[in-house]
Amino acid sequence: MLNLVLFGAPGSGKGTQSAKLIDQYGLYHISTGEVLRDHIARKTPLGITADKYISKGHLIPDDLIIDLLKDVIDNEAKGAKGIVFDGFPRTIPQAEALKDILNARGTTLHAVVGLEVPEDELIERMINRGKQTGRADDNLDTIKNRLEVYHNQTHPLKEYYLKEGTYMPINGSGSVDDIFNSIADGIEKATGEIRRTRK
Ligand code: AMP
Repeated sequence: MLNLVLFGAPGSGKGTQSAKLIDQYGLYHISTGEVLRDHIARKTPLGITADKYISKGHLIPDDLIIDLLKDVIDNEAKGAKGIVFDGFPRTIPQAEALKDILNARGTTLHAVVGLEVPEDELIERMINRGKQTGRADDNLDTIKNRLEVYHNQTHPLKEYYLKEGTYMPINGSGSVDDIFNSIADGIEKATGEIRRTRK
């Protein structure tokens, strides 16, 4: 398997680059944010709970999101030749859980792709996405909370993965294709084997 984490602040392009990765490498995409938004739209019990956190820009409690992730890995992603984790992990306990979940399934995390984008650009991108898609948490108040949560709870993971030797910094400003090419070159250098299906 080839398992990757796409890491970065909200608005850093994780969703956009995940779409290209799954297309080029045939990997399974798990976006915890998308899974949660689907639960909210279907008004499931998890969706009703999740909405209270998401609408404020806060994180869903670790135990809930870890259970959800296990469920997706064991059911929807079963048999996949690799997984792109987008929006997970967001806390150190989630990173520890991911390591255990993958190890228990006989695999590991191969690389953490860190999309690095200046904060003013992140805000501009999210405001534009909110206008284009109507995504409820892409409004200025919630964006500010999400960025604060990112700095306090998620950004420490960069140090965590640097120590593990899996963190791969990528300049996340510029054209979608140029950013993707940097990611793909980095992954291919790091793993040594997997090649893009198309250039
Ligand atoms: P995203 O689409 O990844 O930006 O996620 C949207 C929102 O879903 C976040 O602001 C959080 O409220 C929630 N969320 C998504 N993934 C996680 C996670 N791994 N841990 C906690 N909350 C999450």
